[in-house]
Amino acid sequence: MNATPAMSIAAAHVVGHFINGEGVADDNRPIPVTNPATGQVTKHVAMATKATVEDAIAAAEAAFPAWRNTRPAKRAKVMFRFKALLEEHAEEIVAALTNEHGKVLDDAMGEFVRGIEVVDYACGIPQLLKGEHTKNVGPNIDSWSEFQPLGVVAGITPFNFPAMVPMWMFPMAIACGNTFVLKPSEKDPTAPMLIAQLFKEAGLPDGVYNVVNGDKEAVDTLLEDPRVQAISFVGSTPIAEYIYATGTKNGKRVQALGGAKNHAVVMPDADLDNTVNALMGAAYGSCGERCMAISVAVCVGDETADTVVSKLKSELQDLKVGCGTDTSNNMGPLVTKVHHDKVRSYVDLGVEEGAELVVDGRDLVVDGHEDGFFLGGCLFDKVTPDMRIYQEEIFGPVLCVVRAESQEHAMQLIDNHEYGNGTCIFTRDGEAARYFADNIQVGMVGINVPLPVPVATHSFGGWKRSLFGDLFAYGPDSIRFYTRRKTITQRWPSGGVREKAQFSFPSNS
Ligand code: NAD
Repeated sequence: MNATPAMSIAAAHVVGHFINGEGVADDNRPIPVTNPATGQVTKHVAMATKATVEDAIAAAEAAFPAWRNTRPAKRAKVMFRFKALLEEHAEEIVAALTNEHGKVLDDAMGEFVRGIEVVDYACGIPQLLKGEHTKNVGPNIDSWSEFQPLGVVAGITPFNFPAMVPMWMFPMAIACGNTFVLKPSEKDPTAPMLIAQLFKEAGLPDGVYNVVNGDKEAVDTLLEDPRVQAISFVGSTPIAEYIYATGTKNGKRVQALGGAKNHAVVMPDADLDNTVNALMGAAYGSCGERCMAISVAVCVGDETADTVVSKLKSELQDLKVGCGTDTSNNMGPLVTKVHHDKVRSYVDLGVEEGAELVVDGRDLVVDGHEDGFFLGGCLFDKVTPDMRIYQEEIFGPVLCVVRAESQEHAMQLIDNHEYGNGTCIFTRDGEAARYFADNIQVGMVGINVPLPVPVATHSFGGWKRSLFGDLFAYGPDSIRFYTRRKTITQRWPSGGVREKAQFSFPSNS
């Protein structure tokens, strides 16, 4: 974290926290938040101390008993009002996303709407929480299973979806009857704070939802505090692994979603014009800063590869890169200067490693935004699995084309990769597509769908080193993650009958 001089911070706005239904001012270790399109520091964000995080946990713990006992139908009413308020304030929140993340406004709206869809799903909580009941499991004995909330749960989220990823977590956790502490990304903190205020306006009792801004100190407090029952994390794989190891060691339930290297397989029979358009959006949309971005196109056969590369090259000439507030642009800047330089250095590395740089976006300058963190779309051909640009997550507008001999060869590459978040296949052959979906070792699969991000009624997650834990995010898995099953067996014996002690194990024999 870069420390900044106290003088400049005093004048600037410092984003604090939202604890127990109130905004909490804080100027502890403030770090700068930058508009990536201009390179200018627009505000600072406080880094919560251990004590501040403990205040948030205490507020959540105090709010839990009453919220747990609030009828699901009443919780749903709060969710319906919350959803309406989110829609009413969409433009304000989306503008904050673009100003701090850099993504173009339409893309920011897309993320926000996908987040609202999870709130929509949470509105159905009375139906979703219905348990299981069996009458007469034994003589005059009935049995049922119900799903009880865990208590205080926490979420830790990445910079790339500052609204949507928190909404993958807290609406379902809270609808299930838990209370929540969110630790959002320090790079774009405004949207989560606006959303917390709207949740309060919707009628959510104080303390049920809390937001603490911070860094490792805040995260470690959440991981170590025994009052926190479960942790949902989304971010890079090294941190996901750390969160999973530390959280589970401390007895918590943990789901930790990590990084990705998503491959698109292009079969020779695919509609190549549509495939190339799909690849353009999936590789360069949001400047490649999506965990479901396509960063590798595996073309089956040299003829397919030659055609795809030449069409991508031509499309890249028309890719409009600029400030996200200009709606004619396709792609905005990278989130920070540090990230920009890291992505750029991967392009240098690819050249050193011997990949063929077909389109070089490194020297792009956006007029009027010379200090912005822009990088043009980059395209590498003839990338091989031994190269670091193939193995590592770049998280920028860099698409690597790998040439494969057959569908089997393409699938082996994907299965051998350490990540298994998303993948897709472009083909007109139903048998090839079905074989791919059935056998590929990846959590989310698209068939002629480049970004197979599940809708809110399904669950989101990867395999291999893209997810540590057993349950996916949102959808049906979120009910399981944010509740504990309890099975109750009940008997009302007939009155007046004296019963003998039974020493054999009860059975229906
Ligand atoms: P990150 O791992 O750097 O940060 C994620 C969160 O962890 C942030 O809140 C950050 O403050 C915190 N954090 C960072 N370093 C920490 C440390 N040493 N100890 C404790 N906490 C720490 O990720 P990012 O750069 O914000 O986001 C990009 C990454 O997130 C990419 O790898 C991307 O693939 C991944 N991502 C994955 C998914 C998914 O669903 N699998 C979705 C979105 C993003």
